[in-house]
Amino acid sequence: MKPILELLPLLSRPRQIAIIMHQKPDADAMGSSLALFHYFQLKHHQVAVVSPTSYPDFLKWMPGAKEVIVYESHPEKATQALQNAEIIFCMDFNAFHRARPADEALAQSAGIKVMIDHHLQPEPVFEYGLSDVQASSTAELVYEVIIGWGDKSLINNEIAQCIYAGTMTDTGSFRFAATSARVHRMVADLMDQGLRHEPIHQAIYDNFLENRLRFLGYVLSNRMEIFYEYNAALIAVPASDVRKFNLSSGDTEGLVNYPLSIQGIKLSALMVENHQEIRISLRSKGDFDVNEFARKYFNGGGHLNAAGGRSTDSLEATVARFKKALEENKALLEKPLKNP
Ligand code: 5GP
Ligand code: MN
Repeated sequence: MKPILELLPLLSRPRQIAIIMHQKPDADAMGSSLALFHYFQLKHHQVAVVSPTSYPDFLKWMPGAKEVIVYESHPEKATQALQNAEIIFCMDFNAFHRARPADEALAQSAGIKVMIDHHLQPEPVFEYGLSDVQASSTAELVYEVIIGWGDKSLINNEIAQCIYAGTMTDTGSFRFAATSARVHRMVADLMDQGLRHEPIHQAIYDNFLENRLRFLGYVLSNRMEIFYEYNAALIAVPASDVRKFNLSSGDTEGLVNYPLSIQGIKLSALMVENHQEIRISLRSKGDFDVNEFARKYFNGGGHLNAAGGRSTDSLEATVARFKKALEENKALLEKPLKNP
């Protein structure tokens, strides 16, 4: 993979560009994609943004969100955009299958594939890219790429809002280990240019409907199991709960973090059952590697402290697999967390 800065000569005249993010996009996937979208528009390229699946309502405020072509709802239009592209930017993912169900259209396009991402173990399918696992977020990387291409002065308020949203959410509001000094410098810089952070926080975190909060109370009371001998917790949500509380996409976002606020807990898992599949989210504290754990037991991956996966077994069988995995990892899990 060639460094992304070497792409610059190819961008010296207007191009047909497609930007695609991972399925079930979060604020980082959307924010990094839309920041790049606004930037390329300022540079007079023709740009289309594709999301493989729909995005949650709490991201609708993002500048440019209305322009996003959702593959699952408009497969022909999205496929066209990918086919027409001379260059395709793959944002916040590093393996084509993360773009399902748009992965085949992506793989089949003749466009030059460029990755900007911060996940571990990228697949060798990209011609150009920036893969930095130390980065807090893909949005932070977009900021650095724009600066690297010599266009810091083009970072306007729309771009700043998208970058801020992606970085804020991927760092758990600037608290996770990846919140480096360079992240704080970037935010300070964006604020110097006029970015207002408070409305973005509200738009993302204070924008749920009543049912989501009722659901939260219900699952914390009824669906959370704590395994103190492994410093671990599990929230397993059956499809019947999803129906009962009329949940929509994004409503379970962040739920997996709650058990980590219990003293000593260093591994938290969330399982959500929907149409024949169980989606699994994993979070950890310290050196327990949930990327490896997700790869080994749940056909997934991600980062050291945040990963995801899936299971096609029943919820009961998936819970049983998790409990067995806890036992297999007992030696690592029972070590207490270090104090500051
Ligand atoms: P989440 O729990 O928020 O869905 O995902 C946590 C992290 O793990 C994200 O960075 C996401 O990109 C990654 N991730 C989630 N699901 C999968 C998966 O099925 N495969 C891989 N490789 N990564 C995943
Ligand atoms: Mn990310």
